[in-house]
Amino acid sequence: MTQALLGQMMNSPLLISSLLSSAARHHSKLEIVSRRAEGDIHRYTVVDLQFRAKKLAQALERFHLHPGSRIGTMAWNGYRHLEIYYGVSGSGLVCHTINPRLFPEQIAYIIQHAEDEIIFFDQSFQALVEVLIPLCPNVKKWICLIDPALMQKSEKEIDNYESFIAHESGDYVWPTFDENWASSLCYTSGTTGNPKGALYSHRSTVLHSYASALPDSLSLSATDVILPVVPMFHVNAWGLPYSSLLVGAKLVLPGAKLDGPSIYELLESEKVTFSAAVPTIWAGLIQYIKSQNLSFSTFNRVVIGGSACPPAMMRTLQEYGVEVIHAWGMTELSPIGTVAKLKASDLSKNIHDQEIILQKQGRVIFGVDMRIVDGNLNELAQDGKAFGDLQVKGPWVIQQYFKANESALIDGWFPTGDVSNIDADGNMQITDRSKDVIKSGGEWISSIDLENVAVGHPSVMMAACISVAHPKWDERPLLVIEKKLDLDLSDEALKADILQFFVGKVAKWCIPDDVVFIDKIPLTATGKMQKLKLREQFKNHQLPSL
Ligand code: ADP
Repeated sequence: MTQALLGQMMNSPLLISSLLSSAARHHSKLEIVSRRAEGDIHRYTVVDLQFRAKKLAQALERFHLHPGSRIGTMAWNGYRHLEIYYGVSGSGLVCHTINPRLFPEQIAYIIQHAEDEIIFFDQSFQALVEVLIPLCPNVKKWICLIDPALMQKSEKEIDNYESFIAHESGDYVWPTFDENWASSLCYTSGTTGNPKGALYSHRSTVLHSYASALPDSLSLSATDVILPVVPMFHVNAWGLPYSSLLVGAKLVLPGAKLDGPSIYELLESEKVTFSAAVPTIWAGLIQYIKSQNLSFSTFNRVVIGGSACPPAMMRTLQEYGVEVIHAWGMTELSPIGTVAKLKASDLSKNIHDQEIILQKQGRVIFGVDMRIVDGNLNELAQDGKAFGDLQVKGPWVIQQYFKANESALIDGWFPTGDVSNIDADGNMQITDRSKDVIKSGGEWISSIDLENVAVGHPSVMMAACISVAHPKWDERPLLVIEKKLDLDLSDEALKADILQFFVGKVAKWCIPDDVVFIDKIPLTATGKMQKLKLREQFKNHQLPSL
């Protein structure tokens, strides 16, 4: 074969450090604002961020680490955490963000598995760290992210971040290396067995940042002020610490305070335009603004994902002038796979039909490909009706879990574990996680559909729909409800009202057989409803029809 003619453009590797150096060069006044554990609001520019990230890279050189060595973090969203993101990945090391909401045993497992050499943590996690230190003997240093004067006494050997970087000059040049080098590591929350690591590369991260900023994705720009409420330990805050620098948008980092009043205060005081978090966070904020009769001055877009965004929540936020961008993704997808946006051909449709499209999980952003298959891996039609196992592929989709012996792919595709349909316009709709599907008399009932209806009821705060064994139908849906506070109705009356609420909204045979009330629906470390736990709790529940 004759040799191909190569293009003659620069072969600049796609490196995470270039996001920072470009922002520092071309958006030098860009502000990064953080609510600190110290109690105040801290602000500096992206130039300061780069200076301190370089000091950190220099300080880490003292440990003679190797390219790819893992450096752990257990921290909220804040400027020091951002310095670690860039200082660690930028110097060729791997930034391993650990979810501190997991059980200590799970965290210890993750730290050992990742072979973290140094761990940076927020002081609010010091008690947890003291439990972890004896469990993780291979970690060389534990470094607390707080002003030195505020360091808490400890019997363990704990260093201070500011002291750690204090004597470095910041005179450091980001190294250039292969864009396929690993940059960061995130473990799935382990709802299905031991947590598994997704190891991102510089290339996958930069490509994901480009794609997620597109107009039909999150539509980010230099006119935005971005508040990632989704934690930096949850799939890199959905890539916002990278994509905000890519577009040159001001970044507001909320620290540990994620309650309605604290988030509202930042949205207003920092003139935030764009935010991102799982639905449960917005439920808290909506309750607060309603109770206080407040409104938003600048906040106009929010990306909601991680679990299905209930249509009722979308409508409420829209009434407050906030466009809800419903997105779907997962740790194994860096995380964004699809985003719900209209096409030109949708613009002539009526509002109701447009809403139905926007309530789905959306279209792929270029780079990701998706398909649905049946149990024999036959591809199913994209007709909006056929549903099957959702598979994806693309440059920011996982190929193999960290340290796994075999590929995670089937036939070259990554099986997501979600069940969905895709319509002819490419709009994908998740009906369930495959393990949450309710199989009733050979038909599948979508638990998400039923939950979406239930949370539209004025007295329902949160709803989980689970399957309960049934002698005739195999499984039937049971609705587990967390009520809003201060209701006058008795449980019996409310139950009848909720079941009546379903009439006309879903097919008769899909209406749940029963409703139970609990004080709090248990959530996973990433804010999803713990259906496994609920299924266990209600496995012997007597349905009224039996
Ligand atoms: P884990 O909780 O297992 O660590 P992730 O946080 O990566 O995993 O969550 C990925 C899963 O979350 C998806 O496979 C899907 O089931 C669910 N998910 C994410 N976004 C949405 C959405 N918009 N609608 C419904 N489910 C979603």
